[in-house]
Amino acid sequence: MPRPPGGRRFLYFVAAILALNFLFASFVPSDPGRISVPYTQFLAEVDKNNVKEVTSKGDDIQGVFKQKVDPQDSKKDPETKFKTFRPAFAPSNDELLSELRTKGVTVNAKPLDNGRSLWADVLLFFGPTLLLVGIFVFAARRAGGAGAGGLGGLGRSRAKRYEPDKGARTTFADVAGIDEAEDELEEVVDFLKNPDKYRSLGAMIPKGVLLSGQPGTGKTLLARAVAGEADVPFFSISASEFIEMVVGVGASRVRDLFTQAKAAAPSIIFIDELDAIGRQRGGGASLGGHDEREQTLNQILTEMDGFTGSEGVIVLASTNRPDVLDSALLRPGRFDRRVTVNPPDVDGREKILQVHTRSVPLADDVDLKALAATTPGMVGADLRNLVNEAALLAAKRGAAEVHSADFYNAFEKIVLGTERRITLSREERERTAYHEGGHAVLGMLEPGADPVRKVSIVPRGRALGVTFQSPESDRYGYDTAYLLGRITGALGGRAAEEIVYGSVTTGAESDLQQVTQIARSMVGRWGMSDEIGLVTVIADEQYPGQSDGNSEATRELIDREVRRIVDECYDRAVSQLRENRWRLDGLAKQLLERETLDEGDAYRAAGFERGAAPGDRPPHGMLKEPSVSPRDAEQQS
Ligand code: ADP
Ligand code: MG
Ligand code: ZN
Repeated sequence: MPRPPGGRRFLYFVAAILALNFLFASFVPSDPGRISVPYTQFLAEVDKNNVKEVTSKGDDIQGVFKQKVDPQDSKKDPETKFKTFRPAFAPSNDELLSELRTKGVTVNAKPLDNGRSLWADVLLFFGPTLLLVGIFVFAARRAGGAGAGGLGGLGRSRAKRYEPDKGARTTFADVAGIDEAEDELEEVVDFLKNPDKYRSLGAMIPKGVLLSGQPGTGKTLLARAVAGEADVPFFSISASEFIEMVVGVGASRVRDLFTQAKAAAPSIIFIDELDAIGRQRGGGASLGGHDEREQTLNQILTEMDGFTGSEGVIVLASTNRPDVLDSALLRPGRFDRRVTVNPPDVDGREKILQVHTRSVPLADDVDLKALAATTPGMVGADLRNLVNEAALLAAKRGAAEVHSADFYNAFEKIVLGTERRITLSREERERTAYHEGGHAVLGMLEPGADPVRKVSIVPRGRALGVTFQSPESDRYGYDTAYLLGRITGALGGRAAEEIVYGSVTTGAESDLQQVTQIARSMVGRWGMSDEIGLVTVIADEQYPGQSDGNSEATRELIDREVRRIVDECYDRAVSQLRENRWRLDGLAKQLLERETLDEGDAYRAAGFERGAAPGDRPPHGMLKEPSVSPRDAEQQS
C-alpha cells in the first residue's frame, strides 16, 4: 500500500507520545515513604505496642508505627508509614482485632491509600482519552494542510500559489535547448495575456497542455518559466500531494483547487508528475490507495469537462510516462495539447551549458561547443550537474576560474564513476589492461563503431577499468552493422582474456548483460533477425508480469537467435584480436605504464595513425547512452 507522504513522520509522532505517556506513568510515585514489612514483623510491632493505627481492606493492611522502623530493604530510610499483607492461611479469627484493641491501636476503615496524588489519578484516568483525541486532531490538521487549521481544512487544496516577487523568478531565458516545447508554451502565455485576439477569430483556447519527456529535460522548469512570464496567478501542485492518508480528500482538494483557480481567472493550474494519479484505471496492478487515486482522477476529468472555455483557466501537467496515462485524460477537451520535451541536441546542449555557466567564471580554454559535442544523451539536469561538479573540482584546486580540464574531469567522474583507492596485484592490473585493451582495439577496428575516447585501468566504482566510447555526433538510430560491432566490442574484454591467458574471470559480468540486452532487442524488437521476422516478440518491460503472448516455439527461436548472434560476434572478436595481437599488446603495455589514455594516445598505442573515421549514421531511434565497457571487480564486499 502506498505510504502517504509524511506518514512516517506521523508514526514517529505517535510513538513519541506513547513513550512519553509510558515514562510519565512509571514516574508517578508508587507510594513514597511507605515501607513494606513482613506480616510477622507487623505482629511483633503490635506486641511491642509500636503501632498507632491500621487500615485494612481484604488482606491488605496499611498503618502507622509510633516509632520509625527499619525496613528490610536497607536502601530505604526508616519510616513510620508501613504496609503489609496478611497471608491467606492465617486463621480469620487469629485474634488480631482483639489484640489491636488491647494495645489501643486505632482501627479504621478508610479506603486504602494508593500513594498517588489527585492530579496523577486524573491524568492516569483521562490521559489515554486525551491522547487519542490529540492524535485525531493532529491527523486532521495534517490532512487539511499547513495553515488550513483544524478539521475545517481537511479537503482544502494545498496548491501553492506562485508569487512573482518572491525570490528570483524563472523566465524563458532560463530555459534553453528545448525550443519547440518552449514555443508552444509561449503561445499558452499569449492566450492568457491576449485572449481576445484568439476569440475574435473563433479559435478555442486549449484547456489542458501536457508536457511529457524523460526526467531532467526541463518540464518543471518550463512550467515555472510560464509562471514567471505570464502575469496571471499560477497554482502549482504535485500530483502525489492530492493523495494523502485521509481517504476521500483527493477529490475534494481537486474541487477546491479548481474553484480557487476559477475565482482568480485568468490563471494557470500546474499539476506536476501527473502519472502519480493519472495512470490507467482498472488495471489490477495496484492494491491499496487505488480507489482514492481513481476518485481524484475522476474529479480532475469532471472539472476539466466543466470548463466552457471562457473561464480563462489553463491546466498544465507534466509526466515522465505519457504511455501509462489513462486514455480519458488524453481525450479532446482535456489535455488536448501535448508537448514532448525531447533531450537536447548538440546546439541545445551548448545553450543549456551557457545558461548554467552564466554565473561561473570560465577560463579562456573552456570551449562549451566542444563540451556539448562530447556529451550526447545528457539532458538539462545532467548538464547542470556537470557544470556544478566542474566548479566543485575547481574550488577544490583552489583555482579562481573553472578550466577545461575541470569539465573533463567532472565528465569522467560522472560517466565513469569516482576513482577508488584499491591496490591491485601486478597480475590483476595486467589482466585488466588486456581486458580493456580488447574492448578498445575492437572499438577502433570495427567499422562505424563509436570512437574510443578514453581507456583506463584505474578502479572506479565497481569497475576495475573502463573503456569509454561516444559517437562523433548525436545519433538517433542504429543499423545492424553498428549493433553487431557494439556486441563484438563488448565481448572484446572477455575475448582478450581468453586469448592472452587461456582462462577467464568474473570481470565480464556487465559486458555480458549489455550484450544480451542488445542482442535480445535486435531479435525481439527491431526486426533484425530473419528467423523471427518483422514482429515484436518481446513483452514490454513496462508491464512486468504480462505474458509476452509468444508460443513455446517462438520463445525457443528467440533464444536460439540471440545465442547465434552472440556466438558469431564472439568468434569475430577472438579472430580480430588474434590477427591484431600486436595492437592489443601495444595498448596493454601503454595502459600499464600510464593507467589512463586519451583518445589520441590510445589510438597511437594501438598502432593507428589517427582517430577512426567519424561514423555518421542515418537517424532511426533507440539506444541513447554512449557505451561504457567496464571490467567488473569480482564481488567486492
Ligand atoms: P523534469 O521536470 O523534466 O524532470 P526539471 O525541470 O526538474 O526536469 O529539471 C531539473 C533541472 O535541470 C532544472 O531545474 C534546470 O536547472 C536543469 N534543466 C533541465 N532542463 C533544462 C533546460 N532545457 N535548460 C536549462 N536548464 C535545464
Ligand atoms: Mg519534474
Ligand atoms: Zn569489460
